[in-house]
Amino acid sequence: MAYKNLEKYKLTTKRYNLKNKDKISLSKKIRYNKNKDKIKITEKIYREKNKDKIKITKKIYNEKNKNKIKANKKEYDKKHTKEHRKRSRKRRALKVSICEHYTVQDELYTRALFHNACFNCGSTETLCIDHVYPLSSGCALSKTNACLLCRTCNSSKSDRDPKNFYTPEKLKLLLSILNNQSSVLDGL
Ligand SMILES: [Zn+2]
Repeated sequence: MAYKNLEKYKLTTKRYNLKNKDKISLSKKIRYNKNKDKIKITEKIYREKNKDKIKITKKIYNEKNKNKIKANKKEYDKKHTKEHRKRSRKRRALKVSICEHYTVQDELYTRALFHNACFNCGSTETLCIDHVYPLSSGCALSKTNACLLCRTCNSSKSDRDPKNFYTPEKLKLLLSILNNQSSVLDGL
């Protein structure tokens, strides 16, 4: 009897899922957006832990999907201009030359330090880690040179020196947060 009910339940669920496809995918999307930062960090940690496994899976995938990848690359090149690519390359090279080594753990630390909100405007949407003193002036990302900003503030700060972006009061607060980390984050 129980087995019969299970089959019935499975069928009902299947029917429901089919009927409400859009609704389900929307609620999935909403859930993802709400937990985006958390999901991203979990994925990052997973990737760091399973580097070799991922490499092999990627290799197999790449071999199987050669043509698809080629087409995607073409599309990517169309969207990303030469200038854009040149800038990214330059940034990457700079990071290597100044030995930037900012780990996932460091990122979690910075997020906690700024209470998971943009330091500049308080937004909790699309947060990213920002170099306080810019990479372009040779400053590596580190626990004492990282701030949490939303994407809007991050792109408007760009690679400006912090004193040219924040008000003097805000900068003073930022530097005091960064300089007093050990007392703020005792126990983390
Ligand atoms: Zn902001």
